[in-house]
Amino acid sequence: MSEELNWCMRDKTPQYAKWQAKDGDTVITLYESGKVVFQGKDADLSSDFWITTEKINSGKVDVKNSSQDKKDKLDKKSFTDPKVYYTSSIGSDEVGTGDYFGPIVVTAAYVSKENIEFLEELGVKDSKKLTDIQILEIVPKFIKQIPYESMILTNKQYNENYSSDLNMNKIKALLHNKVLFKLRNEIKGYQYIIVDEFAKPYVYYNYLKNTPNVVRNITFFTKGEDKHLAVACASLISRFIFINEFDKLSKSLNINLPKGASTIVDEIGKKIVNEYGFDKLKEIAKLNFKNTEKIKEIN
Ligand code: MG
Repeated sequence: MSEELNWCMRDKTPQYAKWQAKDGDTVITLYESGKVVFQGKDADLSSDFWITTEKINSGKVDVKNSSQDKKDKLDKKSFTDPKVYYTSSIGSDEVGTGDYFGPIVVTAAYVSKENIEFLEELGVKDSKKLTDIQILEIVPKFIKQIPYESMILTNKQYNENYSSDLNMNKIKALLHNKVLFKLRNEIKGYQYIIVDEFAKPYVYYNYLKNTPNVVRNITFFTKGEDKHLAVACASLISRFIFINEFDKLSKSLNINLPKGASTIVDEIGKKIVNEYGFDKLKEIAKLNFKNTEKIKEIN
């Protein structure tokens, strides 16, 4: 949670709280005791999302307050369904949303039934276990055979557009919709459009309510990479592009930029500010992350 919510952390926290974050309309507070409190209009929705995520990630289903019915639904959701897996489908996934430095990359990819075996042999099935070096090796081996659409949101664009009305999840929704719309128009005969779930479907569509060309009939899956190789390919292509952009950025600054949003990021950020001035961060980092304030504080 700490990692995922890093971008919307508040500077001031209540007493005995480790952190407090404002994600859309929900204020989330983690206390030192380990207790998490959700407040606001979408509090139920948000807590439900995090409980589900936690259950899936830990493999536990025995969480307090959850009915048997809910557990069954959850088990079904984390299970790879052959009826979905062995289809010709479109999938999308994004990277860079948890990284202070570097762009956000979103990709939609199409994997036909005929390509499943080929991709499995390449190791795409276990894409989450792949290192950056392996990704750089594997993606060029399939990228010509897999139709895809990618979009890069630069840090400059991100910083200029980010506002209380345009939070990270809304940005993700807009980008997913764009690449899905483009790819869907190129592909005939797909069975599913699968998005690696980052927001409840109704929240996702609500973000797009004033957007033209909204792609509907999406199937949302948590752990989407396991559900269909189109999502795994989308994830890998996004990571491939991200790694390359990140390397370019590092080289242009002559500094080895760290990924993520940890304290090392703050130190390197300070180094960059000392060398290039604060305005440089506008081009290379996501300024609304808590890291920016920390960078300002470091002497
Ligand atoms: Mg994802």
